[in-house]
Amino acid sequence: MRKQATFQDPMFHDEDRAREALEAELWPDGPICRHCGNSDPEKIAKVQGKSHRPGLYYCNECKGQFTVTVGTVLERSKIPLTKWWMAAHLFNQGKNGVSAHEIHRTLGVTYKTAWFMMHRLREAMNELIRTPMGGKGQIIQADETYYGNTSKRAKGYRKGLRHKHSIVALIEPKGRSRVFHVKRATAATVREILVTNAHRSSELHTDESNLYGQVGREFAAHKTVVHGWDKNYGQYVGKEGQTTNAVENFFGNFKRSMKGTYRFCSEQHLQRYLNEFQFRHNHRAGLGFNDGERTAKALKGIEGKRLTYR
Ligand SMILES: [Zn+2]
Repeated sequence: MRKQATFQDPMFHDEDRAREALEAELWPDGPICRHCGNSDPEKIAKVQGKSHRPGLYYCNECKGQFTVTVGTVLERSKIPLTKWWMAAHLFNQGKNGVSAHEIHRTLGVTYKTAWFMMHRLREAMNELIRTPMGGKGQIIQADETYYGNTSKRAKGYRKGLRHKHSIVALIEPKGRSRVFHVKRATAATVREILVTNAHRSSELHTDESNLYGQVGREFAAHKTVVHGWDKNYGQYVGKEGQTTNAVENFFGNFKRSMKGTYRFCSEQHLQRYLNEFQFRHNHRAGLGFNDGERTAKALKGIEGKRLTYR
């Protein structure tokens, strides 16, 4: 296991070390041309000299030049890589995220820059590789929750769940999570999420909501838990051991953190925040990741993402 990162580590202070650390993360076997994919070390040369940007490479295959950030979500950012490392580190220290205000204060960047960095990092933390969850003998917990439109004093407040945003989450109790913002949680939207993300050979655990009844029959088994306190277990657990505790804990952490750290998130951005919480959950200490590894993984995700903020 990688040793825990601390703010004394060189990539937080020295731009060259920061770049080398990023290169090591993205190119463990040496540089890969950002334009043509060439990775032959004989055909890639470091461009030296004061008149060039540091970290510049020349590809003899396509005659192009590139750096480690070309074609990533960090491309064209004037922000030093040391600050990207710091922001990613702050983002991944606990499980609650970090406010733009704290990034702004700690990194000495403007609030606007902090906000921009956070959205880029959320983009990086968006997990695009989606192998099916669960499988034979595995359990998937599914549940939905409602978020937002809670302040009765806010302009436009409307009573009722249908005016809130719906979130559907799938969780392997001892493994990964996947979380979706949907316009409305219906049997159809929930089914679509389940069958496109989970092996139908899995066992499905949900509450007694009628959203899951029909799709539940497509799975190897479907067990429901009644929402009520079981004093024998000290938690919400059904007679056959079924529970939706893991997914409820995820929602609990998400809502508490949103309230405490982020205060407000518009519907437009909700999926980005969900991606952020999903990323931390999927790289949590319980799965063997420490803060330093989580930070490095977050930055590794700058590759292969569509640039949505140009
Ligand atoms: Zn090339």
